[in-house]
Amino acid sequence: MKKIQMVDLQSQYYKIKNELDNAVLNVMDSAAYINGPEVKLFQQELENYLGVKHVIPCANGTDALQIALMALGLEEGDEIITADFTFAATVEVIHLLKLKAVLVDVDYDTFTIDPEKIKAAITSKTKAIIPVHLFGQCANMEAILKIANEHQLFVIEDNAQAIGSDFTFTNGETKKSGTMGTIGTTSFFPSKNLGCYGDGGAIFTNDDEIAHKIRGIANHGMYERYYHDEVGVNSRLDSIQAVILRKKLPLLDTYNEDRRWAADFYDEAFKDHEHILTPKRAENSSHVFHQYTLRILNGKRNDLQKFLMEKEIPAMIYYPVALRKQKAYYQESDPKDFVNTDKLLDQVISLPMHTELDEEQIKYITDSVLEFMNK
Ligand SMILES: *Cc1c(COP(=O)(O)O)cnc(C)c1O
Repeated sequence: MKKIQMVDLQSQYYKIKNELDNAVLNVMDSAAYINGPEVKLFQQELENYLGVKHVIPCANGTDALQIALMALGLEEGDEIITADFTFAATVEVIHLLKLKAVLVDVDYDTFTIDPEKIKAAITSKTKAIIPVHLFGQCANMEAILKIANEHQLFVIEDNAQAIGSDFTFTNGETKKSGTMGTIGTTSFFPSKNLGCYGDGGAIFTNDDEIAHKIRGIANHGMYERYYHDEVGVNSRLDSIQAVILRKKLPLLDTYNEDRRWAADFYDEAFKDHEHILTPKRAENSSHVFHQYTLRILNGKRNDLQKFLMEKEIPAMIYYPVALRKQKAYYQESDPKDFVNTDKLLDQVISLPMHTELDEEQIKYITDSVLEFMNK
């Protein structure tokens, strides 16, 4: 059996190695390393794939979030509501910009921000909501957009983990994740569903004015060469990363299909176990399984992780600490308001999930999990 990895980027690369190597060498030869034609082409291809008017490539997913917030004309102390259970980048940029992060609980079954908790957290200072499409499926965007409309709030979708998933509204309309709010952001970190071979990110919007502003901010606040109208940042996608992404974008749906195949296999193996909850698929979002995350109900999650390690099966705890309890982002809170987050911190374990898992490996993983859980 091939060694099991949390993410197997090398095997994925070998399948398209020739094509990728040639494409990268062509960029080397062209000497258009920054803002070359490949970046523009990737931008257009991603716009087409997502069905969004503007894609602005940038250096990574954290920059994408920061630039998105910078483009909205917010003022110090304005409140941004986001999830307590997620990767730290979302709340980090809020703090960096001297805005106020208001962290709220998530839904126990989908791991995404709970719209009812958003409503309860709105004050006169609230300016935006950042739903994170965690682990590969969309937060409840229909409910979130309704709240945002009623209260005149911006919505920034952190789509770093769910690129390629679809959200279907009750009127039957379907949209790609990251294209429903005011702005969407994503990351092309190598292990993401659409990953490059270094750092990369992008920002999406259908709003022409906001797109113009974002392009300026990402380019030193410059709208006309050497005229700096505001304080910006330097955040670009390299041509080499762009050409790799151009080769991988046409494969994204197949990659996500491969992940779903693995998830189905896991689901089937664990479906009747009294102490294992498999990840619930939201009714209105397709799932692209950035992570496959179980909830272990018998209190032995940490022992299970150790047991799997001994069997050379990597398994990760995403995420072990609530953001509101992190030193950097500490927020006074009543545990009654964070029942789901606090349960999830003790129960979640993510199994290997990538495009290269084979049946033998998955069977070994599911057998091992069940061996421990049935002891
Ligand atoms: C990966 C990730 C980011 C940050 O992306 P980088 O490219 O690593 O900066 C932001 N938010 C979420 C939810 C992520 O998973």
